Amino acid sequence: MSGVSRRVVVLGSTGSIGVNTLDVIERHPSQFSVFALTASTNVEKMAAQCVHHKPEFAVMASEPHGRALQDVCAKEGLSTTVLWGAEALDTVASHPDADTVMAAIVGAAGLSPCIAAARSGKRLLLANKEALVVGGALFMDAVQAGGATLLPIDSEHSAIFQSLPDDTAQWPAQIDKIILTASGGPFRSRDPQTFHSITPEQACAHPNWVMGQKISVDSATMMNKALEVIEARFLFGVRPEQIEVVIHPQSVIHSMVQYVDNSVVAQLGTPDMRGPIAYGLSWPQRVTSGASAIDFSTLSSLTFEALHSNGHAQRFPGLALAWQAMAAPDGTTAVLNAANEVAVAAFLNRQIRFDQIYQVNADTMSDFIPAKPHSLPDLIALDAQARRCAQSVIARLLR
Ligand code: NAD
Ligand code: MG
Repeated sequence: MSGVSRRVVVLGSTGSIGVNTLDVIERHPSQFSVFALTASTNVEKMAAQCVHHKPEFAVMASEPHGRALQDVCAKEGLSTTVLWGAEALDTVASHPDADTVMAAIVGAAGLSPCIAAARSGKRLLLANKEALVVGGALFMDAVQAGGATLLPIDSEHSAIFQSLPDDTAQWPAQIDKIILTASGGPFRSRDPQTFHSITPEQACAHPNWVMGQKISVDSATMMNKALEVIEARFLFGVRPEQIEVVIHPQSVIHSMVQYVDNSVVAQLGTPDMRGPIAYGLSWPQRVTSGASAIDFSTLSSLTFEALHSNGHAQRFPGLALAWQAMAAPDGTTAVLNAANEVAVAAFLNRQIRFDQIYQVNADTMSDFIPAKPHSLPDLIALDAQARRCAQSVIARLLR
């Protein structure tokens, strides 16, 4: 990296991706430093991160949490400036003294700071897939207009990016299809007739990855893969029919690109998000990540299952919603995302059953046909309307 130190804003620093990002940054103090940290409500964890990383800025979601953090920072003698509220996320994400933004907030709440970072030309490391699913073409336009560098952190998309040629102009003529691998989550072989009785605790226990609650539930329904299909469509500019999903329970192959000559290039690694995070931070170089190496002597087999086999279509009906949303009017991917955020929260609160998540998503998509969004305020309004629609679908289901 020619001796330049990157000043990194970590949006969502107290979450799973945030903590892994700080771990990688800390391994390379001469190359990366923490410029700003942001979190929703966990003052204690944020305070510990501030003491350790001494950022210039720390942002909390609300004033009471911000004031509580301010008190700790004052007591610790830190010079960190504490801000709060959604606008403060945009402020740090577009700050002229920062050059890299890790987008690791969960959900559409991360859209506005992503757009702020994109418009101000940052290196934008995207873990927050919901932001791209909501923002779609407008998100990609902001990246281009701002001259930002958008690098995927989602392990599948990092794998695809690592499997593609550097020259993006070659992509359209060379890519035949993108093959996203999916572990199948905790219920890959569970009897679909029993899905109604799945509890939040069971849904959050992923066999291969340790992650936040929302993405864990999404992995169990495979809505995570649906969001990733949409994410791939926008990131790599491919047509929806060029994206395929294959179940690969070992999560060793993180995804693949099939070229027009039917040659397939894949990226492999242990399931540790520090791999893709380190690649995003250091690209086009590579740095150590803390992820362990694959031990091929103990890796007995790599297996694959088609989505149309073994009852998977019945287990994971939500996956098909990705292609339905991409074929529907612009803005429908934002509707699907909003419905899913509402449905997952209702499931985690034990308001609806696991199998009803799909019902909420499908019904919201058919009840609500969006007007084409033209701006960030349009997207924010659309997200809010779709959430209200999803809430009324839930009320109907519970009647
Ligand atoms: P998490 O729940 O562990 O962390 C979320 C972070 O966002 C926390 O710091 C939280 O304080 C913050 N946050 C939540 N709501 C907020 C709001 N309304 N305003 C401001 N901040 C808010 O989630 P995670 O597992 O780290 O996932 C983060 C993102 O990365 C998600 O979009 C997820 O899909 C994506 N991702 C995660 C993984 C993984 O392994 N965890 C892998 C790939 C992609
Ligand atoms: Mg992923």
